[in-house]
Formats: sequence, structure tokens, C-alpha cells
Amino acid sequence: MTASTGGPPEISGASQRPAPARFAEHEVKALLREWGVAVPRGATAAVPAEVAAAARGLTPPLVLKAHGPGLVHKSDAGAVRLGLSGPAEAESAAGEMLAGLVSRGITPDGFLVEEQAAPGVELIVGVVRDPGFGPVLLAGLGGVWTEVMRDTALCLCPASEADARRMLAALRGAPLLHGHRGRPAVDSEALVGLLLAIGGAQGLWERLDLGEFELNPVIATEEGVIAVDARYLPGTAEPTGPRRETPGQDFTALFEPRAVAVVGASASRPNFGNMFLEFYKATGVPLVAVHPEADEINGVPTVPTLAQAGADYALVAVPADRCAEVVRHAKGVSFVQVMSGGFGEAGAAGLEADLVRAAREAGARLLGPNCMGVYSPRGGQTFIGGEPGPPGHVALISQSGGLAGEVVRVGERRGLAFSRVATVGNSADVTPAELLGWLGGDEHTSVVGMYLEDPRDGRALFEALMSVRGRLPVVLLVGGRSGQGRRAAASHTGGMVGDGRVWQALADQTGAVLVGSQDDLIGALSFFQSHSSRIVPPAGSVADTAREPWTGRDEDCLPAVLVIGPSGGASVLAADVLDAAGLVLAALPDETRDVLKALGAGAAGTSPANPLEVPVGPRGRPELVREVIGAIVARRPYPDVVAHVNVQSFFTFGTSADPLYAYAHNLARAQRDLPGTRITLVTRNGECAPPGVEDEVRAIAAGAGIPVYRSMEAAAVAVAAAARFIRGA
Ligand code: ADP
Ligand code: MG
Repeated sequence: MTASTGGPPEISGASQRPAPARFAEHEVKALLREWGVAVPRGATAAVPAEVAAAARGLTPPLVLKAHGPGLVHKSDAGAVRLGLSGPAEAESAAGEMLAGLVSRGITPDGFLVEEQAAPGVELIVGVVRDPGFGPVLLAGLGGVWTEVMRDTALCLCPASEADARRMLAALRGAPLLHGHRGRPAVDSEALVGLLLAIGGAQGLWERLDLGEFELNPVIATEEGVIAVDARYLPGTAEPTGPRRETPGQDFTALFEPRAVAVVGASASRPNFGNMFLEFYKATGVPLVAVHPEADEINGVPTVPTLAQAGADYALVAVPADRCAEVVRHAKGVSFVQVMSGGFGEAGAAGLEADLVRAAREAGARLLGPNCMGVYSPRGGQTFIGGEPGPPGHVALISQSGGLAGEVVRVGERRGLAFSRVATVGNSADVTPAELLGWLGGDEHTSVVGMYLEDPRDGRALFEALMSVRGRLPVVLLVGGRSGQGRRAAASHTGGMVGDGRVWQALADQTGAVLVGSQDDLIGALSFFQSHSSRIVPPAGSVADTAREPWTGRDEDCLPAVLVIGPSGGASVLAADVLDAAGLVLAALPDETRDVLKALGAGAAGTSPANPLEVPVGPRGRPELVREVIGAIVARRPYPDVVAHVNVQSFFTFGTSADPLYAYAHNLARAQRDLPGTRITLVTRNGECAPPGVEDEVRAIAAGAGIPVYRSMEAAAVAVAAAARFIRGA
């Protein structure tokens, strides 16, 4: 008798049964076997006296385990025995095990006796339900070392084959899989197959009401992979979040309303509503105030109710408990933005639900509540005082209104031009995911920044990011990553997802770029904005370009960067910074040696290297940078060239800004000559220049579509972000 326990346990739909505490190991293994995952041959016995009979037909060495309440970590309780020579020894081991367990106050439900798998590399594979993103696949090295090593990779389900391979490659211990110290490599195809069977499309995760699901260990050898332990704890099967989207919703009127109505401005005591009336007056959008008595407010004509406003966008700034009533009358208004706080974020979920219902009744979509609104220079939309900035192609979706205002104003100061900016507040109706999906088809948008503090409808966000993947770069800044409240979990898997790394997994899977600060968000957006029209050979597929073939070495498949600037420590440090960002300073082609020597580039007495040292300063030849870049790129098509200058040197060893401007003009010309290369300028030590000089350099560079950064660190983030984005992938 070698079959374990008849048919697989019934574990579909939580609605069909009251959730049992947990399935016994052999029940989970039966399901795995049905799913094509290898498990040891085994059989169960209720009492020690039945163990020998159950073990007949199994090939030794054998393993004996007990199962039942209190046996989550069996080894800790003395409920695992390995290396048993046959049925007789298994039976006597069961008697000893039972006695030991009883002395600890544990009464097992029964025993599992199974064949012992050959040793190999032990891994953990699991699925856990992330509160924001739903089912997440986890793979790691470990077995018993799992908790110590904490070497795991995550991926939102469903994982693609590429995701599964990336997860394994991302493990610090990956060399162990490839054969270490003379050991054979494990069967990584089987491992990938196992990951997909569990977490891939139509994988086991879809059948489980997670909960937690964990195989620890899976033993991988050159022969294949086998799951020798399996644990499944059904969850409450609550949905990840309600689907709120309206399919095919057109958001044009949100960003380009025909007319705007403001509800809540006061005729006597100026408030937020009055402030917004002033903001809107500066954009020139047709404007009306809603007020029961006044004839005009802040010089803006009024109507008594929203229904009479004739506007397709309404801003509501009245106390929270009156918002639903106002919104209910928004007949004919496409979008209602509720600025007021005091809803879900303040514990008043009921008020928020009323508000959503009111918007539905009126046939309007709701932005917020608790949000600042929308900014779109093209459409007269604003939530910021002063003149609107220039219309452009950068979109921003933000869960924080304050931060959005900063990114808009600071970004514009640094040269960004925005297409659509939406702050979403509590996202009770319109979510970041829905907006992102729409931006994917927006002709005015070529890059999107997102500031998020929680995923909201995380699955929808995942799907929206997938839907724009390879078409629209997305730069993600996530606040509170370390503070994500994660459910304490009984198993390793649950405990290890709780560090916010799921955001990195989301970025890896969807091709979005995760940045760590507001400056880096602006910096990455600047890069994409500046270079959006440049078709450069994407990382990893340079061979597809029509250019001269690359050498086929490994480094040619990675983002290749040429760094060029004055000699000294700064160039060395630049190499370190770019290296840390994952970029590769691919070597200069040999053929450039003579031509660079002739031009006077490269440190004296040495071969030209990357970083390439060139004399840049008040006494240098300003054309040199252009000639050198041209000579190199003609022989090797570096996708990215990072040029750096020491601004301070121009004013320490020179007296005027003219040589610096001449340098910038030459770099600009180089960029104009090279549509297939992205040039980036780093102006180090810019604070040593007289006022206005940096702005002028920035303007010269911007004229040719070159982004400018004040540090190599900032540039590295942006260049790496762009290198990650692969158009059409
Ligand atoms: P625990 O509940 O303590 O995690 P396991 O079933 O994982 O119990 O067993 C503990 C260890 O024993 C495993 O990590 C593995 O190294 C080894 N082991 C268990 N079952 C087998 C088996 N069938 N073949 C080989 N090794 C096994
Ligand atoms: Mg185990």
C-alpha cells in the first residue's frame, strides 16, 4: 500500500465548508501530486501498530512524521525521524515518537511514513496572501536555514516563466543551484516548473483560499525537485478589495473640463473654496461658484445648486457630513472632487460609503475624498496658486496632495512639463490603477510618476502596470514601505513577506521603476521626458539594432554607459556610483585608442578607459567633448553617455562662465548629432558658480533634450531607471 490517502482533499471555495484549522501534510501532498508536483511516496497510519503495515512497499530509507494539532513545526516537537531502515524500525520509531509527544502534552492524529528523498539543495516555496496585493509567490533558499538566511524572492501571482527564472536568479544563494564546489547543478527547469505549478497562471494558488501555503523544504537535485514537507492554512478568503472601476471610463473631462464648479466658497469668510476660486481664475477655465444666496463670490458668478452649474467638474469643499447631500445633486457633472477630509482616513467609513453611493446616484465619478484635486495646464485644472506651468507630457498620480504640489512646482523649476496630475486621496471611487490604465492610452502622456502609500486595489494596480508595460514608463515612489502592517503569520512565509519587498516585486514584474525619494522621482521623470523621443538600443537586446554588431560578451547585454569627464577621484567615484546602480561601464573599443590619443583624451601615458578622462575646464578645448563622444559612439553605440563637469573649477581656475557655456553648447550639439544616444550632464559642485550660471547651463542642455543633475548619484538613479525600461517588452 503506497498510495497515501485516497483522493485529494476537497479544498475549493471557502463558501462550501467551514474553514478547517489546517490540512494534514499527507492531504496537502495528495493535492500536490494531483497537480504534478513530485512528493515522496508514503502512507498513513492512525496508530504506531499500523505503521509497519503502512510502510510495506516503500523503499528505505524511510521517514516518519506525526501530524495533528500542535504540530506546526514538527521537528521542534520531535515529530520527524529520518533514516529509518524499514517498516519494523519505522513502527518502533512511531512508538517512541508517540511517547515523546504525549509527554509534551501533544496527542497526534496519526502518522505519515514516507520514502526519504536524496539530499540536495533545500528550498522554500510558498504562497501568502498579501493584504494589499493578494497572492504572492515566495521562493528562497533554506529548508532549516530559511529564517537565518532570509534569502527569498517574491512575485505576485500569477508568475510568468521569466518571473520564476528571475526569482531564482535573484537569490543570494543562487550559485548553490548552479553547482557549487564540484556539486552538480540542480535541475532548474524542474524548479521553474514547480514555481509555475504553484504560483503561475492556472497554478495551485488559484485553487487555494489562502491563507498560507508552504513547501519547506523542496529538495532540488540534478534529477529533479521534490516537496518533502507541505503546509496549508486556509485563510478567510476575503476579497483583496472591491473592484470599483467603470470599464472604459474616459477621464478627459477630469483633466480638461469644459467648466468647473466650486461648492463651499463663502461669501463672508474666505475658506479653501475661495482659495480654489482664485487658483482657477488664474487658469482661465470657465468657472462658477455654487452658493444658495450670494450673487457672486470672489468676482465669480454663482448658481444656487450644483445641478444648475452646467459644469462637468465640481470641487466640493464643505464639511464631511454635508458632502453626500451636495454630491447627490451633481446630476450632469462627470467628475466630483471632494476635498474635505473626515471620511475613511478619520475612521468614518460609513460617511465615505454614503458619499460613494451619492456619486453613483448622480451618475458622477468621485475623486477623493480627502484630496487636493487635479493639475493640468492644458485643461485649466489646478490645485496650486500662481500661473500654470507649461503643458507637457509627464503625468503624476499621487495619494498625497501636498507631495503632488511639491513634485509639480519643484519639477517645473527643474524643467518638467506636466500633462495630467491627479491626487486621489482616499480613492473611494477613482483609483490610481484606473487612472494609470487610462493614461496608457493618453496621447499627451509619455511617462507617469506615482506616489503611493498603500496599494489600494493592489491587484488592479498590478494589472494596470502590466497593461502599460513596455509602452509607458512608470516611476513609482512608495511611502511607508517599512510600515506596512502585515498580519502576523504562523509560518515562515507569512513572516517574511512583511517587509514591504512586495513593492520591489511589483516593480520587477511590471517593469516599473521604484525610486526612493522625491528628488529621484523628479530626476527619473526628467530623464524620460528629455529622452522620450530617442530610440536607443534597449538593454539586453542590443543585437536587435541595425548598428554594428556587438561583441557578444556578457557586458554587452547590460545597460552600457560611457562616462566622460575631468580626471581624478570624481571619475573613479562615478564608476562606483554607476556600478552600484546596476549599470555597466563597458570598455572602449580598441579602435578608438588612436583617435582618442590624437584628440588629446585619456590620462597621459595610459590607454583610454571608461570612465574616460578628458581635460574639461576653463582652459580646455570646448569642442573636445563633442569630438570624443562622436568618435566613440560611431564605433560602439553606447545607449547612455554621462558627461560630468566640475563647475567649481571653471571659477577657481578661470574668471568667466563662458567656457562652461561653450562646453554645454558642444554637449548639446553632440546630442543633436546623435539621436540614438542619450546624453546626461552632471554639473558637480554647482553651488560654487555665481547665481544664474547653473540655470543657464541647464537651459542650454535642455534645448537639446539633455537632462541635468547636480550629482552623479542623482544621475545614476535616472540612467538606471531608463535602462530598466524596455520598450515593447
Ligand atoms: P518540519 O515541520 O519541522 O518543517 P519537515 O517535514 O520539514 O518538518 O521535516 C524536517 C526536515 O527533515 C526537513 O527540513 C528535511 O530536511 C527532512 N525531511 C523531511 N521529510 C523528508 C523526506 N521525505 N525526505 C528527505 N528529507 C526529509
Ligand atoms: Mg518543513
